[in-house]
Amino acid sequence: MRYISTRGEAPALGFEDVLLTGLATDGGLYVPESLPHFSVEEIRSWRGLSYSELAFNVMYPFVDDAIPADDFRKMLDETYSVFAHQSVAPLVQLDTNEWVLELFRGPTLAFKDFALQLLGRLLDYVLEKRKQHVVIMGATSGDTGSAAIEGCRRCEHVDIFILHPHERVSEVQRRQMTTVKGDNIHNIAVRGNFDDCQRMVKESFGNQSFLGGKTQLAAVNSINWARIMAQIVYYFQASLALGGPDRSMAFSVPTGNFGDIFAGYLAKKMGLPISQLVIATNRNDILHRFMSGNKYEQHQLEHTLSPSMDIMVSSNFERLLFDLHGRDGAAVKLLLENAAKGPVSIEEYRWKHARKLFDSDAVDDKTTCDTIREVYEQNEYLLDPHTAIGVRAARNCRRDKAVPMVTLGTAHPAKFPDAIAESGLTVKPELPAHMADLFEREERYTVLDNNIAGVQEFIAKHWKNT
Ligand SMILES: *Cc1c(COP(=O)(O)O)cnc(C)c1O
Repeated sequence: MRYISTRGEAPALGFEDVLLTGLATDGGLYVPESLPHFSVEEIRSWRGLSYSELAFNVMYPFVDDAIPADDFRKMLDETYSVFAHQSVAPLVQLDTNEWVLELFRGPTLAFKDFALQLLGRLLDYVLEKRKQHVVIMGATSGDTGSAAIEGCRRCEHVDIFILHPHERVSEVQRRQMTTVKGDNIHNIAVRGNFDDCQRMVKESFGNQSFLGGKTQLAAVNSINWARIMAQIVYYFQASLALGGPDRSMAFSVPTGNFGDIFAGYLAKKMGLPISQLVIATNRNDILHRFMSGNKYEQHQLEHTLSPSMDIMVSSNFERLLFDLHGRDGAAVKLLLENAAKGPVSIEEYRWKHARKLFDSDAVDDKTTCDTIREVYEQNEYLLDPHTAIGVRAARNCRRDKAVPMVTLGTAHPAKFPDAIAESGLTVKPELPAHMADLFEREERYTVLDNNIAGVQEFIAKHWKNT
């Protein structure tokens, strides 16, 4: 499989290189040159497979000659055996024909484990083969950092440095990062805010001379193609469990960077019968505003009770724009260059096509809390604030009650106790048994000043080959 850039100028790459690359050299994102397509008969024949067997069938066409089939199967068995539920992604029924797909049974209790547990193993496999080492550098305001650290903890060829703003992440989130043991794991608490952390990461990617040419930086942020690829699988899994492919499905997806829902769009293009995809956002609603008014315009960032969806621009949306423009990289390049300067629109017929593919809704904090309370009162089932936004959007946008509506459950409620408290419920979300001692575990992190030279010096000194 070859991968091409959404801006049409960077060279096409194979799977291994795409894995190790962040942005393409032309500023675009990599997408597969063509998608595999599965017939209804083939998908039907996958009923009853384990999660990792299904994952192999869905993903192997993207990997093909880069990794031998048996090695990839083994990697998938290992990846999905760390999830704390036999089915990996269990479905919970909320109402007649309405479901939550629990994607938070992994080590850090959020859906990002599905991709990052695999990505760590893929990276280590490819680096071992190439006798290469990388330093992963990332900034986090919460979920991504812990999922990336958990995904890389056993990697021999990777050192990971995660920057978080000192005293500005929740205690659960900090502890999920800082209590993971491993010589290759380095948590840096920066005396600054998230933007400071992100700026240092960006600048370091731009000039890697502080590493002395002995290793290179790699990114694990949500634009990495392998993350999207891993997220396609659970759409197939949920559908097969609910009578697909002989029945069509609807999905509602709590959305920030458009990664998770883009994977659902790909599942549909690969042959899975999906009749509705709902983009669910919080008050940071650039995608909802685009879908309802054909205007793509950056607003101020708002801090909400669903922090993992607090974004100003949605980076993976570029991958959809590429398809909406008939895969014309030059058109996408021009559009996004203009979008950086001010609001943009796309041609009416292209936008109408987007509206056929997606419905959308934006949900504010109050309605998020109301939904948490409503669902708890209906079923004694606690939603985290991100999933609650998905459920609310599903209920508001639903087109056909005969079609199963599945909301992706993106985080465990114990990660976000504040939203639960704010919803007026007195019940306290409990951490699952395998994490119950989180508050007793020993933490390891280094506090550094908000100064890029100091941070880079720390990294140069602490990656393992020095
Ligand atoms: C990252 C995240 C999201 C948003 O996912 P995208 O792929 O960026 O759309 C939603 N919910 C939770 C809990 C997350 O961690």
